[in-house]
Amino acid sequence: MAGDYNPYNEMLKVLEDAAKKLGLKENDYITLKYPEKELKVAIPVTMDDGSIKVFEGYRVQHSSVRGPYKGGIRYHQNVDVDEVKALAALMSLKCAVVNIPYGGGKGGVTVDPTKLSKGEIERLTRSMVTQFFPIIGPNKDIPAPDVNTNAEIMGWFVDTYSTLKGELSPGVVTGKPIALGGSLGRAEATGRGIMFIAREVAKKKGLTLKGARVAVQGAGNVGGVAAKLIHREGGIVVALSDVSGGIFKEDGLNIEEIVTFLTAERGRLLKDYNEPGLKRISNEDVLTQDVDILIPAALENQITEKNADKIKAKIIVEGANGPTTSAADAILDKKGIILSPDILTNAGGVVVSYFEWVQNLQNFYWSEAKVNESLEEIMVNAFNSVWATAEKYNVSMRVAAYMVSVERIVTAAKMKGLAN
Ligand code: NAD
Repeated sequence: MAGDYNPYNEMLKVLEDAAKKLGLKENDYITLKYPEKELKVAIPVTMDDGSIKVFEGYRVQHSSVRGPYKGGIRYHQNVDVDEVKALAALMSLKCAVVNIPYGGGKGGVTVDPTKLSKGEIERLTRSMVTQFFPIIGPNKDIPAPDVNTNAEIMGWFVDTYSTLKGELSPGVVTGKPIALGGSLGRAEATGRGIMFIAREVAKKKGLTLKGARVAVQGAGNVGGVAAKLIHREGGIVVALSDVSGGIFKEDGLNIEEIVTFLTAERGRLLKDYNEPGLKRISNEDVLTQDVDILIPAALENQITEKNADKIKAKIIVEGANGPTTSAADAILDKKGIILSPDILTNAGGVVVSYFEWVQNLQNFYWSEAKVNESLEEIMVNAFNSVWATAEKYNVSMRVAAYMVSVERIVTAAKMKGLAN
């Protein structure tokens, strides 16, 4: 992690704040500060050259108070237990704020997958599933894709788990290929959820998506899809960036064409895209454009005390996990910028994962229209609960979202006799 930024501590600060505002005693929520279980495993993999390498993997199960643990598994060289712990806790809060019957978990393997062949990644995945086998399952802990893991990897996951279990178990992971029990609408669900939340926040500010000027940091599964769907609602996406830098066009970028360009081949970047009237800007400049809506949808720790003062957007909707630090939150709040937090805004992915799991358990599959309608209903209800809490207690949407989720978890814990 860069500098002093510790994602677990960031989460704890907001948790304490929300619990105090709810009038909770530490006894009521102390268990939320500690993950229920942390498993560290060694994952041996036979490499293409015949040597054996051992990678370290983690599965953190934060809370099972409201249902089985739910959360992705990432493959990244920077994975460490603190990061996985923070992300696991955020999953408990995310599932509670949208009121789906899951707890939270997260997993990771410390590996740079760009250095591995496809065969090595497949063997790594199968070896990891074998190590995680005793603690996962459709009614225990249901992983999903995260950074550098995808539907193909989830297919190997289901195959290995089902072999060990002795029965086909598609419900052990979500984010699977459609042919293996994946859900229609899952691939676009996070971006679609962001569009719904942006629309609802805009309404509260007397704006509509139609005609709103929008800047998006990140043009991947989250940022690219959110930009495309907002554009389809009549939004004018003036700025967009990816790891190669940013692009800007005063009267709006041709988002459909950009997304088609980026997704046509693996590894395509914005630096190689062009259209008449397009200007190149830095990634930092994308965040500080004069827009109505800003969507950080790339990485954590992007809006900090160093640039928060320069933000001109009226509304920020967090597509990425943890893009804004707590110090920046305070500055944005003073400037009167409304910020819709990650645990609410980007929950569309886990909501449709829940629909995928329900379809697997029932062996009954939904149309894409039903998935999208049900997603909209859940996202709008969650937004309304958070907004009402923010108004009632006069707190930011972030604190309100934590209040809604902490209250739901603590209520369930009390009914189990786990809190005073
Ligand atoms: P992705 O890999 O598809 O896309 C990431 C994008 O960010 C790419 O366009 C990449 O070029 C860009 N990027 C990387 N470094 C950058 C930089 N320094 N400056 C600007 N852009 C940069 O990943 P994704 O699935 O879109 O996830 C993005 C974020 O959203 C992550 O924080 C992830 O944890 C979070 N998230 C994803 C989902 C999901 O369903 N995919 C759900 C919830 C949260």
